[in-house]
Amino acid sequence: MYPRLEINITKLKHNVCRLKSILNEENLKMAIVTKAYCAIPEVVEEISNEYVDYIADSRIKNLKKLQSLKLPKILLRIPMISESKEVVKYSDISFNSEIETIYRLNEEAKNINKVHNIVLMVDLGDLREGYFNEEELCNVVDNVLNLKNIKLIGIGTNLTCYGAILPSQENLGGLVKIAKNIEDKHNIKLEFISGGNSSSIYLLQEGKLPKGITNLRLGEAILLGKETAYGNFIEETYHDSFKLYCEIIEIKDKPSMPIGEIGKDAFGKVPHYEDKGIMKRAIVGIGKQDIDIESIFPTDENIQIIGASSDHMILDITNSESIYNIGDILGFVVTSYGGILTACTSNYVEKKVIYNLSTQIQLV
Ligand SMILES: *Cc1c(COP(=O)(O)O)cnc(C)c1O
Repeated sequence: MYPRLEINITKLKHNVCRLKSILNEENLKMAIVTKAYCAIPEVVEEISNEYVDYIADSRIKNLKKLQSLKLPKILLRIPMISESKEVVKYSDISFNSEIETIYRLNEEAKNINKVHNIVLMVDLGDLREGYFNEEELCNVVDNVLNLKNIKLIGIGTNLTCYGAILPSQENLGGLVKIAKNIEDKHNIKLEFISGGNSSSIYLLQEGKLPKGITNLRLGEAILLGKETAYGNFIEETYHDSFKLYCEIIEIKDKPSMPIGEIGKDAFGKVPHYEDKGIMKRAIVGIGKQDIDIESIFPTDENIQIIGASSDHMILDITNSESIYNIGDILGFVVTSYGGILTACTSNYVEKKVIYNLSTQIQLV
C-alpha cells in the first residue's frame, strides 16, 4: 500500500546508542521522546531496549499504548485536568506548572493507591510552559510537599520551542541554581533536573552544560541525527531513518505557468509561478493532508517537488535521467521533524518498520 513510510529501526537504534555515549560523558540520563512518530509501539520497544532511562511523550494516549514496557514513562505536556485519571494511571512522572492540576493528580493517585511523581517546569524565557517567577515556584513547592500521593522529584525546563531561545550556560545554570535553592530551603533532594531537548546537545558537546543537570529529553536528535540549536548533524549518526514511498498516478507534459486568471489555491494562498516553459510533470498519490512537503526530498536528485494540494503532490521530473511510468514508486527522504510528524499522524500513510543498514552512515 502507498503512500508508505519506512522506519528504519536499525538506524534509530544506532542513533540512540551514539547519543547515549555523548550523554554518558556527563553522566546524564536519557529520555527518548516518542511523540513525533505517535509512539508506534514496535519502534519504541525496539529502540528502548538498551541505553534508555525513560520514555517520554506529550500525549497520554501514546503512553497508554506502551504499558507493556518497563521503563518509567514521562508525560511531557502539562496535563489537562480532565485527563488526570489517565495521567496517574499511565504515566509514572508528569511535568506540571499548575497547582490546581497537581491537586487533582493527587486525588486521582490516592484513588488508585499510587504515588505519582511530578516535575515542576521552569520557564527560562522561551515562554511556553512553566513557572516564570521563582517565588511563585517556591510557594508551590511548599504546597506540593504536603500532598501524600504526589512526590516532587525535580524541576525541568523546555527551550527552543516557542520562543526559539537557545540553551546556554546562563539559563541552564539558572535552572541548577533554582534546584539548589529549593533543596536548601525545603531540605529535600531533587534527583531529576531536566535540561531540555535536542537543542541542549551542542552545550554538552562543547563541555558547557552546567553540572547538576541530570537528564535530557531527546526526540529529533535520535530521529534525524540533528542537534536543534543550530541544526547541525551529529557526527556518526544516520539522517535517513525515515523514508516515504509514493506512487505515480499521472505523468504529462504541461506548462509551468497555470492558464487563466490566478485566484487562491486550495489553502487560500495566492501562488507565484516562474515560467520554465513546458515541463514533464508527475503527480503522486499523497498530499498536504499527509505530509509537510517542505520536509521531504526526492531520492532521485533530479526531481523537484513543485507543490501539492490536500491529496496530490506535483513533481517536476523533466531533468530526471530515469524513465518513469504510471504506477512507479518514488522515494523521498524525510529530512525534518514536521515531515515525520505529519506522515506518522496521517492515517492514510502506511507505516512499515524495517531492519537494515542499506546506506552508509552519512558523516558530516
Ligand atoms: C517535544 C519535547 C521534547 C523533545 O524535543 P526534541 O527537540 O525533539 O528533542 C522534549 N521536551 C518536551 C517538553 C517536549 O515537548
